[in-house]
Amino acid sequence: MLYISTRGRAASLDFEAVLLAGLARDGGLYNPESWPRIPPEDVSSLAGQSYVEAAARIMQPLIGEQIAFDELRALIAAAYGRFAHQAVAPLVQLDSNLWLLELFHGPTLAFKDLAMQLLGLLMDRSLKRSGDRTTILVATSGDTGAAAVEAFKNREAIDLFVLFPDGRISEIQRRQMTTSDAANVHPIAVKGTFDDCQAIVKTLFSDLAFRDEAGLSAVNSINWARILAQTVYYFTAAAALGAPHRPVRFAVPTGNFGDIFAGYVAFRMGLPVERLVIATNTNDILARTLATGRYEPRAVVPTSSPSMDIQVSSNFERLLFEVSGRDSERVNALMNAFKEGGAFALSESELAAIRGIFAAHRCDEAETAEVMRRLYRRTGYLADPHTAVGIGAAERELAQSAAPMIALATAHPAKFPEAIERAVGRVPQMPERLEHVLAGRETYITLEPESDAVRSVIRDRGRFAESRTIR
Ligand SMILES: *Cc1c(COP(=O)(O)O)cnc(C)c1O
Repeated sequence: MLYISTRGRAASLDFEAVLLAGLARDGGLYNPESWPRIPPEDVSSLAGQSYVEAAARIMQPLIGEQIAFDELRALIAAAYGRFAHQAVAPLVQLDSNLWLLELFHGPTLAFKDLAMQLLGLLMDRSLKRSGDRTTILVATSGDTGAAAVEAFKNREAIDLFVLFPDGRISEIQRRQMTTSDAANVHPIAVKGTFDDCQAIVKTLFSDLAFRDEAGLSAVNSINWARILAQTVYYFTAAAALGAPHRPVRFAVPTGNFGDIFAGYVAFRMGLPVERLVIATNTNDILARTLATGRYEPRAVVPTSSPSMDIQVSSNFERLLFEVSGRDSERVNALMNAFKEGGAFALSESELAAIRGIFAAHRCDEAETAEVMRRLYRRTGYLADPHTAVGIGAAERELAQSAAPMIALATAHPAKFPEAIERAVGRVPQMPERLEHVLAGRETYITLEPESDAVRSVIRDRGRFAESRTIR
């Protein structure tokens, strides 16, 4: 399988090269050259399979021959071996037609583990085979960084630099990144927002000389392999509820548009998805875009669901590429308009194509707390604020059809105890696997939101000068 850049000016790459590069050299994102189809009979048979077996079958056509099926299955089994639930991504029924897909049973209690644990093993495998070394630079609104630290700590061929917005993430999220005690992990608190962190990462990746010097890799949700791994649970959840014979709907707490784009990938691969509901918190750029056709960020407002406090949804570019009929010139034009004027407008046909499969709803802070309270009172279930935003959006869409609605539970309630206590008056129980981060010693540095400062720290602390890096 070959991958092409949404901007059309970078070389097409195979799966391993896309895995290690993350961002394309023309600033674009990689999508597969074509969408392989999973035939209906294969979707039916997923219902009786383990998550590991299902994952290997769904991912294989998107990887191609670079990894043999048995090796792929063994890597997936190792990646999910640390999960606290046998089913990896279990479904819980909340109401007659509303389900929760629990994606928080991994080591850092957020859905990011599903992709990151596998990404760590895939990258390690590639680097061991080539003898190369890489420097991972990641911007995080909290959960990605924690998942990356868990996946990459103490890996010999990898240095990890994590940028997080100082004071804008929860204490548990910060401690998950700063207490690893691993010499190859470098957490950096940036005095700014997540969008500032992401802008620094983009600047350093577009400095091609530095990118080569340090052998930079991106593991943000722009990395295709993350989306690939996330595609799996859309298939397994849909199959469990009757796909391919019955269409399903998903409601997805959305920030950078990576997770919900994985749902779109499943749809393009033949899964009968009737609707993908984008759930946003107060930072509602995507809800506004679907309503008006204009993509225009506003200032980021901190909320109780910090992993969605984003106004520039990077993976939306992948969808633009698809709905423009894979017109990379059009994507370049929109991205340039965005860079220069801070906004762009979709054409009528692009907007119609998006509205054909997506809907979007915004849940503000009061509503999010109300969803948490109502759910707890009715069922005893404690939902974290991100999950509550998804449930709120799902409920608004529910009456539109009879297809089962699956809301994605993206974080464990224990990750956001203050917000839960405020909403329902109860503190969620801390799972054992989180106790060590509360006790550990924190190490991190604090920087102004300037790419030069971050570049210097990477030059100082990275080990790439010592040996050959990937190009
Ligand atoms: C990252 C994250 C999201 C948003 O996912 P995207 O892929 O960025 O849209 C939602 N909820 C939680 C808990 C997250 O960590």
